[in-house]
Amino acid sequence: MTTKATSYLTHFRNIGIAAHIDAGKTTTTERILYYTGRTHNIGEVHDGAATMDWMEQERERGITITAAATTAKWKHSATGEEYTVNIIDTPGHVDFTIEVERSMRVLDGAVAVFDSSQGVEPQSETVWRQADRYGVPRIAFSNKMDKTGASFELVLSDIRERLGAIPAPIQYPMGQESDFKGIIDLVRQRAHTYTNDLGTDIEETDIPEQYMDKVREMRAQLIEAAAEVDEAVMDKYLEGEEPTVEELVSALRKGTVEKKIFPVLCGSALKNKGVQLLLDAVVDYLPSPLEVPAIRGHIEDSEETRDFPADPDGKLAALAFKIMADPYVGRLTFVRIYSGTLSSGSYVFNASKGKRERVGRLLRMHANSREDVTELKAGELGAVIGLKDAGTGNTLIGDGDEKVLLESIDVPEPVIKL
Ligand code: GDP
Repeated sequence: MTTKATSYLTHFRNIGIAAHIDAGKTTTTERILYYTGRTHNIGEVHDGAATMDWMEQERERGITITAAATTAKWKHSATGEEYTVNIIDTPGHVDFTIEVERSMRVLDGAVAVFDSSQGVEPQSETVWRQADRYGVPRIAFSNKMDKTGASFELVLSDIRERLGAIPAPIQYPMGQESDFKGIIDLVRQRAHTYTNDLGTDIEETDIPEQYMDKVREMRAQLIEAAAEVDEAVMDKYLEGEEPTVEELVSALRKGTVEKKIFPVLCGSALKNKGVQLLLDAVVDYLPSPLEVPAIRGHIEDSEETRDFPADPDGKLAALAFKIMADPYVGRLTFVRIYSGTLSSGSYVFNASKGKRERVGRLLRMHANSREDVTELKAGELGAVIGLKDAGTGNTLIGDGDEKVLLESIDVPEPVIKL
């Protein structure tokens, strides 16, 4: 429920990018971070590096994405509204299945990346099933549209047949393989054509005539998927009328949050602007922390449970989901705050370990900087410096509060050195 205290959360998205190895997860994540970091001035730049070339520097140092959760700001291209998008790192290799599962617990939605020249591969299926198990709403990104053998239709039919899911194509590629020239937005009915090879420039136009037949066919698939979950769209569909953009977005969003349909995008992570449209879709179709079921806590020494809906004024309930050793500040404990507010300098109780601990500094990790903050509120993710005993999967509650353990996957994990 949205109240005055929780209204900030409507503009929050906590997402993961899930893919099997080589589908393009790293490239997609880097592009998102690069693009959001470049277009938004997000605090001081770490190490004095210029925002523009941080990605190159990271590359040279052989490091890609170093934080377990990175905070990015994104202004929706169509509505102009600003959103906070927290990107949670989901390990992409099958050997890290447990880690993937643990990260699934702290995100509210995911982008599933597929290699469009391969369709849905067995490993992508594994990641998809894990997301199913944790009830994570998803949008799918059919990546590598520029690669030999790329086929958007293959990805759509594989989603239907191999994953047994209903794809809602919200985009269509203009050309495929070496002819890949841009993306048609089937919801807003606009064409986005790359005007240079790198894809850093794009021209937005009406849909070129030559694609109109295909667009009609794909939009019929899209509207049919939306009609499955929304009566207003269904009524219009049966009357042979077109839904408005707002009606379509709202119906698709509802279907995605309910995990009944999966919006599918296409593009190439190597081209910046495709990533822009992907970020718009994250905002349009993936849920805010207010739209997902509240996390459940088990009250110690009892059979009782208690839900913790996202509310900064509620009792503190946070989950530590990753421990990293940082060369500058030491041990970093990444946390998701489900309820309440975590303040720097305060004491918390680690209900998993039965220990009282002092919170030192709190950091919000950006792609190219770290921001010291005095508090992290319900729905937010960040890193704590100063917790000595917290391990992955541990529950943190207010000092003196009733002891609860949040539902999590409690698996011991070694500290990862950066
Ligand atoms: P990950 O293992 O899923 O993180 O995949 P990477 O992001 O590391 O990408 C694997 C390989 O595919 C790299 O060589 C990328 O340069 C390449 N790649 C990623 N996205 C695209 C794309 O859109 N088109 C093409 N042609 N190659 C891509």
